[in-house]
Amino acid sequence: MSILDIFRKKPDTAKDPICHMLVDKSNSQFTSQYKGTTYYFCAPGCKHMFDENPNIHLNSDPPAIKM
Ligand SMILES: [Zn+2]
Repeated sequence: MSILDIFRKKPDTAKDPICHMLVDKSNSQFTSQYKGTTYYFCAPGCKHMFDENPNIHLNSDPPAIKM
């Protein structure tokens, strides 16, 4: 099995822009709309941090917080 097969089997995931965790889109309870894009979060705290200042988190590469 190649690495590509592993990725194809994964459910549709999105990266939490705050902690960079992968979030399952179909299970995510915490989402935010920003500039026409939906962002997914692992926890209400991450969503709150994003909502307060989306630009900072979208432009920063390293995770804003460590889990
Ligand atoms: Zn998070």
